[in-house]
Amino acid sequence: MAEFIPPAKPMIGEEEIAAVTAVMRSGMVAQGPEVAAFEEEFSPVAGGAECIAVNSGTSALHLGLIAAGIGRGDEVIVPSFTFAATANSVVIAGGTPVFVDIDPVSFCMDPVAAEAAITPRTKAIMPVHLYGHPADVVSLKKIADRHGILLLEDAAQAHGASLAGRAVGSFGAFGAFSFYPTKNMTSGEGGIVSTGDPQLARTVRLLRNQGMEQRYANELAGFNARMTDIHAAIGRVQLTKLEGWTQQRRRNAAALDEGLQGVVVPAVADGAVHVYHQYTVRVPGLDRDRFMQALREEWKVGSGVYYPIPNHRLPSLKQFAPGLDLPQTEAAAAEVFSLPVHPSLSQADIERVIEAVNAVAKAGA
Ligand SMILES: *Cc1c(COP(=O)(O)O)cnc(C)c1O
Repeated sequence: MAEFIPPAKPMIGEEEIAAVTAVMRSGMVAQGPEVAAFEEEFSPVAGGAECIAVNSGTSALHLGLIAAGIGRGDEVIVPSFTFAATANSVVIAGGTPVFVDIDPVSFCMDPVAAEAAITPRTKAIMPVHLYGHPADVVSLKKIADRHGILLLEDAAQAHGASLAGRAVGSFGAFGAFSFYPTKNMTSGEGGIVSTGDPQLARTVRLLRNQGMEQRYANELAGFNARMTDIHAAIGRVQLTKLEGWTQQRRRNAAALDEGLQGVVVPAVADGAVHVYHQYTVRVPGLDRDRFMQALREEWKVGSGVYYPIPNHRLPSLKQFAPGLDLPQTEAAAAEVFSLPVHPSLSQADIERVIEAVNAVAKAGA
């Protein structure tokens, strides 16, 4: 049989290598003109918001939270069904993550559950645009406004996704994007904070660089969370390819939607543009792990589970969720897995994924 089809694959071309080489030859490799250009060029992806580049998506969340005023004793409502960085960033900013359940169709934060979790200590609601599908930030923004709290967006998986014609990362007080290699585009490591609030933007810029705007005139205690020009140069090249890759992801997803039988394919909410960071299916009633094993061993089709253990049950975070029961989160964690959808798949790869899934589903793994 043909080659193994990996569940994800970063696409790094000669252009990225040449861009890195040019920065290295310039002799100036730390944060500089490449970072400034990357911030400008990424802004349209975040709906025209001001962008501040940092060294990871986690740093984007962390610095954004501090700049938004989240600190000790402040509750931030987050989903549990996400990568741990979402809640970790709340904890390292000094706040308290309050986990709520998801909508079982979109896998994103359930607005009804979010509103029910608001207390006098709640400062913000931070949904995740999970798998590249926008969370219901239209409803969540209304809820946040009604209660006088902030909406914040973890957009780490959703470069280019939108809801009601508006880009994710432009709904909340800030959005946080990631450029980790498996994301829809990469800078090696890196992240961006997007915001429409000039004061928040300035605070993130200070926090990223020891609290300094003028050298040695430190205004607050900050971090070194700067992006290097080497990483920004990679990101700038990748950004020129993002739109084409997103279209390819969407075409691959459409072919999977059309061809797959016997599994629950991802739904797209009204008015949503899904950018398919992951193409995530459910196999209720079947053994998910055996299903994935059969795909790998019999068909050389890779797949992955995002995320098998909900955040509120992780040893690092369970202290924030004593006795909490999130049934939709638990069901998703037990049933979902993600099939290859990345832009480097060939037509034959897509056909093999479809044939494999349909055969395994029919055999009743
Ligand atoms: C990847 C990711 C992050 C963190 O980004 P890094 O760049 O890896 O620090 C945060 N939230 C979600 C949902 C992610 O998928």
